[in-house]
Amino acid sequence: MSGNPLTRRAFVRLAAGGAGAVALGCRDSERYTDADAARLEAQRREERERSGRGPYGRQVYRGYRGLAELPWFELDPEGRLRCVDESVPLAIDVHAHLAVAVLFAPAPDLQARTERVQHLLDCDREDPGCPLDLDVYINANFTPDDLSALRRGALGNLLWGSAAARTHTIPNLLAEMDDSRVGRALVLPIAFGVPFHDDLTERWLDAGEQAGVRERLIPGASVHPRADDALERLRAYAARGARVVKLHPTMQRFFPDAPEVMPIYEECQRLGLVVFFHGGRAGIEPGYTHQYALMRHYEGALRAFPELDFVLGHAGARDLADAVPLARRYPNAWLDLHGQGVTSIHEIVEAVGGERLLFGTDWPFYHLAASLAKVLIVSEGRPELRSAILHRNAERLLGLAREDA
Ligand SMILES: [Zn+2]
Repeated sequence: MSGNPLTRRAFVRLAAGGAGAVALGCRDSERYTDADAARLEAQRREERERSGRGPYGRQVYRGYRGLAELPWFELDPEGRLRCVDESVPLAIDVHAHLAVAVLFAPAPDLQARTERVQHLLDCDREDPGCPLDLDVYINANFTPDDLSALRRGALGNLLWGSAAARTHTIPNLLAEMDDSRVGRALVLPIAFGVPFHDDLTERWLDAGEQAGVRERLIPGASVHPRADDALERLRAYAARGARVVKLHPTMQRFFPDAPEVMPIYEECQRLGLVVFFHGGRAGIEPGYTHQYALMRHYEGALRAFPELDFVLGHAGARDLADAVPLARRYPNAWLDLHGQGVTSIHEIVEAVGGERLLFGTDWPFYHLAASLAKVLIVSEGRPELRSAILHRNAERLLGLAREDA
């Protein structure tokens, strides 16, 4: 998940009692320096300054529906945004989620269809929608009010449930995939390390099987690195067909190069699973968790397990500048482009080439088309690059049959 909305207070209150799995660390001064903090601020500043000045000019739309201005999209008679260009290859989204509800929150019905999807950046709530800038890191589009709502919603996901989460269902995801020419999506749960109902992996696997949509929703899994039974769980999830394991250094509070995580990587390698990291600082998570997500802390894993494929989620988010050198140095590092702006995606392609770049959306944070539009803008006139990012690379990574074979 791109946001890291669990507040420290919430964790202290709710998790300290029973969850040995959740560490409430202070900042380790060597692992997170003042210079690290300053770099995040500089990134935000530079991003604001350069938005609209890149190779694609100004890319601001009025809500997700506003993307209908782009040549690949239209609004249908019901006002739904659709990708109508049949030359756009059917995409594989490597970064999607379903409704989150753990601890005390009642589990939403994942088989329900609702009138509209309430994305966590609910950009189409009003008409015209919120200004959506495709040339900044996507969470820069949240206003301070939106961020407060996001945090309240995240507490709801732990406590009383949330109205938004009730729309993050399988039929709603599939409908948006149909609208957006997304053929398949990799669904990534997360093991939060809370004392109970921390079973998103099982629930999402069950829901996918119940819906009979295994062809379209590729199952992922998650374990908490400090769970006693993490290795047994990995084996059980792999046996049920999971292909990818999501690990989230900031939400799960661990350093990806910590010795405690090495057995997890070893087991993933043995089982043929891909490790999908939340990568880098999104900038909206609690500040004390930033230390876990610096890109230099991922290098130990990439180096120690050259045979294991790692996806760096969000291409390092606001730490993109540090993720790119890793991707250049380590052939087992793949970049999920989710969140990056069009100028940044252009620069990633220049620096890394197109062969290990993946299309991800972080649904239901955002409409699938927000991420699709960016890839289409950058890959215009480059059909090979477009197919590589939208599906061929993911097919190779996940061992899927080729769409165009
Ligand atoms: Zn995500």
